[in-house]
Amino acid sequence: MSCSRGNTNRTRAQKHQNKTAFKNDLHDSSKKTKFLNTLQVTGVCLRCKEIIEWKIKYKKYKPLAAPKKCVGCDQRTVKFAYHVLCNNCSAEKKVCAKCVKAMESTETTIEVNVDEDKIKSILKPLSERKRRAILRYINKQEKITDETISNIEDILLEMDNININDCNNSNSSIVDSSSDDGDDFKVEK
Ligand SMILES: [Zn+2]
Ligand SMILES: [Zn+2]
Repeated sequence: MSCSRGNTNRTRAQKHQNKTAFKNDLHDSSKKTKFLNTLQVTGVCLRCKEIIEWKIKYKKYKPLAAPKKCVGCDQRTVKFAYHVLCNNCSAEKKVCAKCVKAMESTETTIEVNVDEDKIKSILKPLSERKRRAILRYINKQEKITDETISNIEDILLEMDNININDCNNSNSSIVDSSSDDGDDFKVEK
């Protein structure tokens, strides 16, 4: 098996893992990074949103220097990097501005009944893995209430417990990355 770029069939566990999550503003206090960190990625599907947010987080995001031509209306109206449609065209056609696939309707029907800052303050200090898990959970909800928040706290506690189990196992040279459930006992036969 090759380890060429894009090969996702790797079976061995990651050799080196960061102790702390990567922070794009740790050594970079530029206005650009500050602005990108506050940028709300909109008009795209969940998958593309995650892709663009990943680019921002890991400093791969290259903003457009000038508006790009929209593939829908042929005008120079695309203001966001990685989008191929302008906001008007993607909203009109109800498609993702990046991959041009039909937008899932569930995305916009989430009713938020709690302070959005509260959710942000929960998400902000989390690692990428936890943040994604919580976002997946949030996106499955029809509405977000105080109960959702306490559920999120439960999920985080649960994930922390799993992490503690992982750490206990990490002394062995072979780490089984496939066991996501954190069970470290063997089934007796
Ligand atoms: Zn357009
Ligand atoms: Zn998309």
